[in-house]
Amino acid sequence: MLDIRIEKVSSYKEKPADESKLKFAKVQTDYMFLMNYTEGEGWHDARIVPYGPFTLDPSCTVFHYGQEVFEGLKAYRSADNKIQLFRPDCNAKRMNDSAERLCIPAIPEEDFIQAVKALVEIEKDWVPHIDGASLYIRPFSFACDVGLGLHTALNHLFCIIVSPSGAYYPEGINPVRIYVEDEYVRAAPGLTGYTKCGGNYGASAKAAEKAEKLGFTQVLWLDGVERKYVEEVGSMNLFFKIDGKIYTAACDGTVLPGVTRRSCIELLKDWGYEVIEGKLAIDDVMKAGHDGTLEEVFGTGTAAVVSPVKELDWKGDKVFICNGEIGPLTQKLYDNLTGIQWGKLPDTKGWMDFVCNG
Ligand SMILES: *Cc1c(COP(=O)(O)O)cnc(C)c1O
Repeated sequence: MLDIRIEKVSSYKEKPADESKLKFAKVQTDYMFLMNYTEGEGWHDARIVPYGPFTLDPSCTVFHYGQEVFEGLKAYRSADNKIQLFRPDCNAKRMNDSAERLCIPAIPEEDFIQAVKALVEIEKDWVPHIDGASLYIRPFSFACDVGLGLHTALNHLFCIIVSPSGAYYPEGINPVRIYVEDEYVRAAPGLTGYTKCGGNYGASAKAAEKAEKLGFTQVLWLDGVERKYVEEVGSMNLFFKIDGKIYTAACDGTVLPGVTRRSCIELLKDWGYEVIEGKLAIDDVMKAGHDGTLEEVFGTGTAAVVSPVKELDWKGDKVFICNGEIGPLTQKLYDNLTGIQWGKLPDTKGWMDFVCNG
């Protein structure tokens, strides 16, 4: 149990006047959570303080060696005005799995959840009221020793910021075009693919920029060894429905184990689908696309929930999926997940975690 000190702001920022115009995590709120780690003392000085810049020494570890991990989850306002989180225990655990790989000290899962809830509660008026919008929560930890020597860092900072964010699809769900990357790789066995560490995204920027210039929304990464098997897209896990069966890459080190991915698999199995977590060759995906058995493709992630894919381009070969429309199973997953998250469907899975009344 953390003993969280609260330092009040002297005046509150203005809330967004029109929630329907909210973008993704652009707005800063009144408060942030901070906690320090010092070797010998452990995590200490948990506090909620006015949101603002913090001062770091220019030789601070994270600037030079990228020793940082983060998480992403959301707080939702339900129809009966309760503020709730979606499976925060999964994020708490994954944060520690990432931290372990980056040699950043773990935070007890219950402390992580307590910190998130304390910040969300004090910021509850920032949780949007309109359908589809939510309060995005970004916890992150990084090494902050002073000095450029490469050694095990003895000092770390854990921070949580939150930001009201709009519906991902203000004009309804828009199927996306995806570029299958054949030059760069995102992950390889033994590396950090399964973690949410900042470096993974820095290393992906080049491919994302290339795809964007070519008019694609995201990059589909192939495995880093054979460049043959589909893994995931920029910030989403990817699912393929081929001839009635559902395929997605296994989480065995190179793929980020998404909370949305896991939740979709549970729902799909409940509905009687066969879900195969394993190797799927891009060759076979393209073949299925051409012979008409590639029924649906969709990405899953906290930000967009479920994102339908309408086109895949691999080395100049193109397949088009579902006539550019959202597939019926993709729609059903979207409706069920968002229904549970915004409290419009019963939470039969026990996925929602109550924070406070709105
Ligand atoms: C965050 C992320 C996902 C999705 O994870 P969720 O827990 O569902 O939000 C998938 N792939 C990558 C690379 C990610 O960073």
